[in-house]
Amino acid sequence: MQWAHDILVIGGGIVGLTTAIRLREAGATVAVYDRGEFGREASWAGAGILPPGNPERAVTPIDRLRAIGAVEFPRISTQLRESTGIDNGYRVNGGIEYLFADDEYSLELWAHEGIRFERIDDDRVPGATAYHVPVMAQVRNPRHLRALIAEANRLGIGLFPNRGIEAWDRVDGHVAGIELADGSRVFADRFLVAAGPWSERLLGPLDCHLGVHPIRGQILLLNAGSDAGPTRIAGKRYLVPRGDGLVLVGSTEEPEAGFAKQTTSGGLADLREFANGLLPELTTATVAGAWAGLRPGSPDGLPFLGPVPGQDNVFVATGHGRAGVQLSPGTARFLADRMLGRPTAIPHDAFALDRKPTAPARPAFRS
Ligand SMILES: Cc1cc2nc3c(=O)[nH]c(=O)nc-3n(C[C@H](O)[C@H](O)[C@H](O)COP(=O)(O)OP(=O)(O)OC[C@H]3O[C@@H](n4cnc5c(N)ncnc54)[C@H](O)[C@@H]3O)c2cc1C
Repeated sequence: MQWAHDILVIGGGIVGLTTAIRLREAGATVAVYDRGEFGREASWAGAGILPPGNPERAVTPIDRLRAIGAVEFPRISTQLRESTGIDNGYRVNGGIEYLFADDEYSLELWAHEGIRFERIDDDRVPGATAYHVPVMAQVRNPRHLRALIAEANRLGIGLFPNRGIEAWDRVDGHVAGIELADGSRVFADRFLVAAGPWSERLLGPLDCHLGVHPIRGQILLLNAGSDAGPTRIAGKRYLVPRGDGLVLVGSTEEPEAGFAKQTTSGGLADLREFANGLLPELTTATVAGAWAGLRPGSPDGLPFLGPVPGQDNVFVATGHGRAGVQLSPGTARFLADRMLGRPTAIPHDAFALDRKPTAPARPAFRS
């Protein structure tokens, strides 16, 4: 059996779905294929931290991408609630950033963007200085994904779960379609690979080797019984209180785990120790759950957004690492503009697949 679409998106995580919606809103016919259920990988597992931002004043392309998300998330959340009836849990609960000496470069970037922050008297994290960032927000990932899926359905986007892409169908080197596990083929004008850390395998046959790899992150969910206040971030670790008594404690960074998605007793014990040390009242909190997800890492910490060199109808959106949720609205806008041949708000080369390797990115926020 064959179908034909303007655009076929491979991967129904937050990046694929948000971009599909943007493309559909612009008038394209779109289908999204996932080898499993939609939004059950990193996009489901993430903590949903959304730092503030101002796209007009953000200094670097990656900070502009994040700042677009900061501005768009409240609008998107309201729109999704009105059109689907699903509340994605977006709320501004404020944050406390515990900055070590190496992280203090952020202060200048925040000031340049006009982000509000204030040094506070809090010595809970030895060796770090605490800053209150009042406009730090959060979203509840599983709810947001449910809302995106409902919105995609409402807009008439073709959604095909449990249909993994196995191979490319090429005619004279030009990609014309994809092949599914059952051997059936699907044709489209343009393709978007948004398959998280699995993108690397899909792109190999197109002679595209980006170095995208899985970075496991574990999360421990505690039930504190009451709201534990603002989000607290210290280096790679954080506490994200949900407002209903639940507190997410994250996260490990384990590239060595490869594609193994299970939690480990050592990882969860570390997270518990971090939580108890930061907020001693959590010592009595009960464990409500634990899980792990695979972030799509890139060699320089920046996402890859744009066409595959030599294949002008195959585009890529992956490598968002720790920040794919906050970067999803900016990514969707950038990719939709590129795929539809419109001018982009951010220069193309910033996230190009054939960019020259540079020192690891130093974004204004690390979570
Ligand atoms: C523990 C943890 C905490 C995090 N916290 C935050 C946070 O606070 N804030 C933030 O902004 N980000 C956070 N992130 C990062 C964020 O979750 C990711 O960057 C983002 O979810 C990546 O989304 P994605 O759509 O690119 O990938 P994924 O969610 O991995 O989606 C890719 C999809 O592609 C599908 N797929 C793979 N291969 C194929 C194939 N061959 N055919 C069809 N489909 C295929 C998969 O099944 C999957 O559904 C966190 C991540 C983790 C793991």
